Amino acid sequence: MGSIKVAINGFGTIGKRVAEAIDAQDDMEVAGVTKTGPSFGCELAIKKGFPLYCTFDDEDRIVKFNDQGYDCLGGLSDLLAVSDVVVDCSPGKMGAENLEKYKSAGVKYIFQGGEKHQLTGLSYTSSANHEENMNAPGTRVVSCNTTGLSRTLVPLFEHCGSLKVECTMIRRAADPGDSSKGPINAIKPVLKVPSHHGPDVMTVKPEIVINSLAVAVPTTIMHVHSILADLPAGHGLNTESIIEIWSNSPRVIIMNGTENGIPTTAEVMEMARDIGRKWGDLHEIFVWEDGVRLVGDRLYYFQAIHQESDVIPENVDCIRALMGLEGDWRKSVEKTDEAISRYYSTS
Ligand code: NAD
Repeated sequence: MGSIKVAINGFGTIGKRVAEAIDAQDDMEVAGVTKTGPSFGCELAIKKGFPLYCTFDDEDRIVKFNDQGYDCLGGLSDLLAVSDVVVDCSPGKMGAENLEKYKSAGVKYIFQGGEKHQLTGLSYTSSANHEENMNAPGTRVVSCNTTGLSRTLVPLFEHCGSLKVECTMIRRAADPGDSSKGPINAIKPVLKVPSHHGPDVMTVKPEIVINSLAVAVPTTIMHVHSILADLPAGHGLNTESIIEIWSNSPRVIIMNGTENGIPTTAEVMEMARDIGRKWGDLHEIFVWEDGVRLVGDRLYYFQAIHQESDVIPENVDCIRALMGLEGDWRKSVEKTDEAISRYYSTS
């Protein structure tokens, strides 16, 4: 099979990151990206050499790009015609309309966590259900929070065989690029109880029994999860061996808040900038070692999620699953992460 041609529909916060992660791989390439109009994001597409298309097929919208000096190659239909799979990175809740377009173009499709599981009937995280997604026509990469929960809960579940979880999502109010969201001086509980985040884990690992609450707080850089997990009797684990399990799990970073001088999300993001990925991204889930404690059979821990980027490498693995390129999730994760690391150390 030649290089897989991937369309990115929606070149915003998630779309631009997914495009570069795909550009880093040797078994797939960016067939093109869409913008709704000639806004500032077009500059990045041009700079990276990603073919630029309009989100819509209307001729009057397409010419607007050219009027502003951007070489727009056509509408979404033109892009889908030269693609094998589309990664839908449109704002949430636009899925149903876009899905029809993908189906009629005969391309595979990946949605993001802003869409409901019911849209595709199948969801994805690399560590939980890569195999289940092999050769499927389409799926949904779960949200940043659900991806984060899966990263640490699935390896625990694999060891224990069962898990009951209660957790609170302490969510950033807005992404750094958003000017219209809040709160800026309040803590805002999500009054739909329980929140959707925990139960969403069950779309990729139904055996984990989980509920969640959520609050939004005035920060833009990360989410923090406060998690209580009840392990089954006879689990044979202690605090240290749980930390060991996570140390051996891909895309999890464990550091000591006190000893490593990284007590808050501000320092975590500064450390992420040192890693050197573009936009200061942190694809890994960050766990504070000194915030992990097993008391009896109940595990307490905190983790931090870089909401704009933890799902990015998952989209790459997901393309490999849908296209039947790699059945072993660990091999895909290794390939994805190595390629991204090489990309940002040379570009
Ligand atoms: P965004 O608003 O930053 O970007 C969306 C892009 O899609 C914009 O460029 C917009 O112009 C374009 N667009 C608008 N209408 C469109 C349409 N009909 N078809 C295609 N594109 C259209 O949004 P985002 O933060 O990148 O979110 C994209 C998806 O990823 C959502 O489902 C969201 O829930 C999910 N997600 C977001 C985050 C995050 O923190 N930003 C994290 C994980 C998952």
